[in-house]
This record gives sequence, C-alpha cells and structure tokens, in this order.
Amino acid sequence: MIKLAADDIFDGRRFLGPDRVLVLDASGAVTAVVPRSWAGDDIQQLKGWLCPGFINAHCHLELSHMKGCIPEHTGLPAFLTRVMEQRQPPGPEILEEAIEAAGQAMQAEGIVAVGDICNTAATLPYKLKSPLYWHSFIECMGFVDATAPQRLEHSAAIYAQFRAQHLPVSLAPHAPYSVSATLFRLIAGMDNNTPLTIHNQECAAEDELYRQKTGAFMDFFRHFGIQTDNFEATGRSSLQSWLPYLKDAPRLLLVHNTFTSEEDIRFAADANVSWCFCPNANAYIENRLPDTPAFLRNGVKPALGTDSLASNHQLSIWQEVQTVRRHYPHIPLEEVLQWATINGAEALGLADTLGSFEKGKRPGIVQIVDNNAKAYTLYE
Ligand SMILES: [Zn+2]
Repeated sequence: MIKLAADDIFDGRRFLGPDRVLVLDASGAVTAVVPRSWAGDDIQQLKGWLCPGFINAHCHLELSHMKGCIPEHTGLPAFLTRVMEQRQPPGPEILEEAIEAAGQAMQAEGIVAVGDICNTAATLPYKLKSPLYWHSFIECMGFVDATAPQRLEHSAAIYAQFRAQHLPVSLAPHAPYSVSATLFRLIAGMDNNTPLTIHNQECAAEDELYRQKTGAFMDFFRHFGIQTDNFEATGRSSLQSWLPYLKDAPRLLLVHNTFTSEEDIRFAADANVSWCFCPNANAYIENRLPDTPAFLRNGVKPALGTDSLASNHQLSIWQEVQTVRRHYPHIPLEEVLQWATINGAEALGLADTLGSFEKGKRPGIVQIVDNNAKAYTLYE
C-alpha cells in the first residue's frame, strides 16, 4: 500500500483538508481516502496539495509545431486562414519532435487524458507509445453538400488507421461553418461513433452566417473558392440550426462556446451535451471568454481544454484554471478544479476510471506546490 498525505487533498469534487490520507495499491489504483488516525504507519507527507490527474478535453496535438506562428487577437476567420495556409510543417521530423515535446509537457504537468482533434495520422506513432489516454477525434469537414460522401470517406480512411491500432477514436464534425447539412446527417447516422465533439460558436461571424448568410465567413468562403449556393440562412443562431442534426448523439462535447447565448444554453439542455471552455485560446484568438456565469446559472458543469499551440502559449490545464480564476475570482477554486478533473472525465466518457480519487479508479496524481502543477509519480 502507498499512503500519501499533503497540506490538502482535492478528490475531484471537494477539498478534504489536511487530515486525510490517499491510499493506493502498487498499481496506482485508489483503495480509499481515510482519516490520518485510521491510516496506520508509513504515511508519506508531501509538499503542497494533491489533485486527481487533469483532463484536457480539447487539444490539437498535430499543430504543436505552430507555436508562436500566428499573432494574437486576429479573430477566428483570419486565424483559420493562417492555420490553413501555414499548417504544413517544414519537415516531418520537425512535426514529430514538436508532437513529442508537447505530449511530454502535458504528461509532466499531470494531464492524464486528452480529447485530441486530428486531421491527419501524424500523432498516431506518438500516441502508441505515450502513457496518456488519448481519444482521437478525426475531424470531418466540407461545406459543399455535393461532396459530403467523399469528405466522409477521406476522414474515414484516417479513422481506420487509428482503429487498426486499437486507439480510442471517433469521427467528429469540425464546426458549424465547415460542415454541410448532408455531412452532418452522414456523421449522425454512423454506428458506435461516440463521443462526438464540435467547435461551437467560437466567433460572432458564425451566428451571422446562419442568421443572415452574411459576414466574415462569407468572405472566408470566397477567399478559398468554397461554393455556398446550397447553404440557406436559417434565421436562427448557429447552435439552434445545427444541434437538431446531432440531437440523438449519446455524448456530444461542444467546444469554445465563446458567443453562446443563455437562450442557446437552454436550447441545448434536452440534448446529451457537455461544454468545454478553452479560455487561453479564446483570449488568444478573439480576446474574449464565454459568458461563464450564464453557463453556471443553468447548471452546466464545464470541462477545460487547451486547444493547440497555434492558439495558446502552453498546453497546460493548470494555466487554464489560473485564467478562469483571474477572470472570475468569485468562482471557488474547488469548482474550477472540478472542470479540470471530474467534469472532463465525464465529458469524454472516462469517469469510471479517471477524474477523482474514488475506489478502483487509477486517475493519476497532480501535486501542486507553490502554485505549480506537476505529475506525481509513485515510483521515481
Ligand atoms: Zn480546436
């Protein structure tokens, strides 16, 4: 048995105080959390406080070579244009090294599971050897209705490569402004394709596109020669226009939600949705955060994501926690830590094994000392 005590223990839901001892078996599985007086001898007293491993619910590991390439505060359409034009790495080994370094940095700070968006199989070799849990979301996109079957086939070929290696994987729609009605229907019709995720309402132009078929996305489509004849404005917000396609999905993670209104939050309440915030990326691209108080008023339990190194200075869930705390000091640390742990595990369907110090789980341990997070490894 391994017995750990610290100045405090956060168990995935609450702080338990200094009197508790985390008891694990030799494999790192939680046996119990007990009062010190019950724990017997051989208690290791650690500095700082302990927390279950962090969950990064939204990342793009394959963009790790783009750190610092794109200036801040460009707005989403300009940001996307730059990513599409600059995402090709100078050489495959540069991308490989960047992927490995980013993965190791996440591991070192205590992230144990990642919901990772993929447009290619570039991250597959690294994921096979990484000890983290990776759920790969193979992104599907195509705004031209007629090409939907080909676009799905293109993504399905990448999906098959992950599947062949028994890596957790699903096919996911990219965003409401890049997926046609037919492509939404094709994805919704796939069996055992869960969880799903989508970039949602990351900028104001997305709602304008759906309400009126005007705005920055129409310029974006013209820039890339993308036909929009098949698309009709719905007169409703983006979310209220696309969510009906995926209303039967058993698990659907909406990412960013920077421009989601309270009315949209209520509209989504009947679907099996969870919500992921990427505060540092939102600040980087749009210089704005989601209406967090509106989400909390409506009982939402958010997860946290880092997005990619194209839109963030680091891939650190602890830094995302700090940013939420800076912008919303009235939200207790205990609550924001739930976003970083148990809520993320639930959003990715991993709460049976990760996200909290509960008997039988192997959630990993983060040690927070002097306001820095690092993975605590049982055997150094
Ligand atoms: Zn993203």
